[in-house]
Amino acid sequence: MYEAERKLALKIVGEACGLASTVQRKVVAQADSFTKGDRSPVTMADLAIQAVVSRRLKENFPTDLLLAEEDSGALVESPDMAAKVLDLTRSAIPDIDGDEVAVALDRGDHEGGSGRYWVLDPVDGTKGFLRGQHFAVALALVDEGQVVVGVLGCPNLATDPSDPSSEIGCLFAAVRNEGAIQKAIHSGEEKVISTKDSSNPSDAVMCESVESAHAAHSEHAQITATLGITSEPYRIDSQCKYAIVGRGEASIYLRLPSAKGYREKVWDHAAGALVIEEAGGKVTDLDGNPLDLASGRFLGVSRGIIATNGNFHEKVLEAARNVVIDS
Ligand code: AMP
Ligand code: MG
Repeated sequence: MYEAERKLALKIVGEACGLASTVQRKVVAQADSFTKGDRSPVTMADLAIQAVVSRRLKENFPTDLLLAEEDSGALVESPDMAAKVLDLTRSAIPDIDGDEVAVALDRGDHEGGSGRYWVLDPVDGTKGFLRGQHFAVALALVDEGQVVVGVLGCPNLATDPSDPSSEIGCLFAAVRNEGAIQKAIHSGEEKVISTKDSSNPSDAVMCESVESAHAAHSEHAQITATLGITSEPYRIDSQCKYAIVGRGEASIYLRLPSAKGYREKVWDHAAGALVIEEAGGKVTDLDGNPLDLASGRFLGVSRGIIATNGNFHEKVLEAARNVVIDS
């Protein structure tokens, strides 16, 4: 099922990774010319990628809708940004004009719910992007109330974590009930991925956000201590966390809220959650309920998200509940 959609999503996300990496390389090479806190390079990549993905989806699946993070507001506010976004978009779609870029962007305004629609985070992990570190492009397809295709592009992730000289840049693709793969961005080499086959949580590597504003590091540390985990947390930006649990490099991803009342966005989880599930893992909220990824732009208010290799999910939930109740 969904073979045409999976194939297209892999192609588009690969193309988007190329655009993002071009911008990121410039940011890193010309670090001196960007003042700290200047988000314009990532805004430019975000908007151009959303415009390109939106156009490619429309060309191939004209009736599908799109729920995406960005809109054309920033172009209206800044003619300078609009010109930069147009330039970058034209590197992929040479004949597009400024108005068409805005239309393509605003096609991403779907509110979710029933029917068939794509979910896009054009640059997930913008802080990592600006630091010259990890980020992801995340694209998912929702159909009949569930995520059915999930593709992640992680341009800075090594294809083989145990081999420092291995090719850099991975795509991950999952189709519901059909498993998950990793595909090297440049060589195209593909392999089926699965979560780590371990039933002992104390051996697990736990991954979490780099940004302490995005997740409660100290609560995570209490949970891992309760589980007897002694390894250091693996901090990495973006949905790369879902990918590394999916391929068995880590076995737990914790995302407890650091700010009360923060509402998680659907584009931050839809593609990644399917990659873990199809690799044999499990993703739930802190209460053990599946994530509600098909009813709107936000997930329900959640006390946190927990993903594991699937073998010791209950134990991690129990440890997390004890920490949250005690604290
Ligand atoms: P990460 O790279 O895991 O730190 O997550 C990046 C994502 O965190 C971004 O795409 C934002 O949508 C999201 N985000 C922003 N603020 C918060 C917050 N206070 N709590 C949780 N996630 C957040
Ligand atoms: Mg994001």
